[in-house]
Amino acid sequence: MTLKRFSLLLLSSLLLTITMLLVSIYYFFYLPGIKTEVLDQQQQEYNLLYSALSLSKNSLTTLCYDYAVWDELVEYVGNPTDDFVQSNMPNNAFEAANIDAVFVIDTNNKLIWDYQDDSLKSSRSSLVHLFHQQNTESFAILPTAAEIASQTVSSRSGYLVFDGALIYFSNTTILPSTGHGEIAGSLTMVRLVDKALINDISQFSLVKFSIEDAQTSTKNMQEFFSLKKIETIAPSHNWLIRNTFDDQVVQVTLHHKKVSLPQLDWASAISILLSIVLIVSLSLMALSRLLIKPLIRFNKSINDSSDDNFISKMASNHFIDELENVSYSFNQLLLKFNAQQNYLETLTVQDSLTGITNRRGLEAFTKRIIARWHLENVGFSVMMIDVDNFKYFNDKQGHLKGDDALTAVATSLLEVMAQYDGLAARYGGEEFCIILADNHHQNILNVAEEIRESIEKLHISNNIDDRDWLTVSIGVVVVDDKLADVEKYNFSDVLQHADEQLYLAKQAGRNTVRVAKFGD
Ligand code: GH3
Ligand code: MG
Ligand code: MG
Repeated sequence: MTLKRFSLLLLSSLLLTITMLLVSIYYFFYLPGIKTEVLDQQQQEYNLLYSALSLSKNSLTTLCYDYAVWDELVEYVGNPTDDFVQSNMPNNAFEAANIDAVFVIDTNNKLIWDYQDDSLKSSRSSLVHLFHQQNTESFAILPTAAEIASQTVSSRSGYLVFDGALIYFSNTTILPSTGHGEIAGSLTMVRLVDKALINDISQFSLVKFSIEDAQTSTKNMQEFFSLKKIETIAPSHNWLIRNTFDDQVVQVTLHHKKVSLPQLDWASAISILLSIVLIVSLSLMALSRLLIKPLIRFNKSINDSSDDNFISKMASNHFIDELENVSYSFNQLLLKFNAQQNYLETLTVQDSLTGITNRRGLEAFTKRIIARWHLENVGFSVMMIDVDNFKYFNDKQGHLKGDDALTAVATSLLEVMAQYDGLAARYGGEEFCIILADNHHQNILNVAEEIRESIEKLHISNNIDDRDWLTVSIGVVVVDDKLADVEKYNFSDVLQHADEQLYLAKQAGRNTVRVAKFGD
């Protein structure tokens, strides 16, 4: 598997895992967690409201009961005096207890004493009127005539809509604190729900609480004091409170602070997913650009460099330091390797004495010429060059001088051949071989003559004959294009033919050239 595929696979599975993880966290942990939290919060808010309402109701009932059993109050009902009221029923005491109205009534339903807060002053007549309605059977604030007659201890409490205002009332029969003796009357305490009570509740409630008349449809509404658990999550809950006559008198609305669950809509889900895809794609591009592509280029460089005679350096300027270091080290290694290879190749094909190509180099070159000859039947020429009377030269002037002379001859051959498409090599001893791409008879003859002359003009003294200079004899064979049955011949056949021409040149008195066409 390639690194590219591997990273693609890795990043795709990473993307899938992240998405699945996010979705799982959202649905299995986040949403249930939030739901529980919101429900808890709503339940807490409901509990606070419930206890606030209950506390207020209970405190009013307790206060009413305390007053009702007060012995002096029993006496007061029988014989009301201002002194008693001033010393025992100061208005500020009721204000302090958030009591908006107090009514003391005798057993004949006669109002003996009342206290009303300013907010209820204007309703005084209707409130008094209300108490006088107790003759009606359905009205159950005050003790009934039957209860008074039978001396039954009575206690009532509940909500009432009174002259447009919602009140909470508590009524208890007045009797001595011992619990024995006749009932003297009844005491009613009233608290305006939509004034003091709402303030009380708001002070220690976490919620926005409002009370409205229960005018609207009460369908699907729950009864406040019968509600035990909030089952649904909603921005607000509406409840009904019934009055003492079982009429729906008030609607309580509780506005929750945490209103709803966060919803994962399609637009945000898709944008989250797209962001993840974008981030992963960018990472992939960066990975590809910074790591994978350089590695592919490195591999190409190494492959190319393993080809003969070709150096492909690695690109430098990598963003990743390690790659930059690898690239630098590889290029250094390549240079060193190349230098060594050049050196070794030169050693293997170079004649150690004359410095020109040796027989091994000639054979490598010949292979290419012959391959082309056999495949495409393209001709060429071969020259065999032999130094004349060299044995004598050595004998007369010594071997070292002979070496120098051979080097001079080789150098001269190279100089002439620099103008032509071909190769000059030392064949062995004082013999040289030249291969030329050209096979035009006259051209080749000219080249051979030029070579022969160039050696003569070196003016290397040989002291052997009237010419005085060292000379060479040259046997040349020209291989024509489109030779019949070319595949029958190999290079040694051509060489042998050239050797024959060389022999003829020697026979002809040396320092001469003989040319023949191959195959003749
Ligand atoms: P011919 O004109 O017929 O070619 O006569 P020749 O004397 O040149 O031919 P022969 O084959 O008899 O002698 C060749 C001599 O070349 C013999 C050998 O001492 C000499 N020779 C061959 N290689 C070297 C070399 O590397 N250095 C030196 N100094 N002499 C060499
Ligand atoms: Mg020879
Ligand atoms: Mg010779």
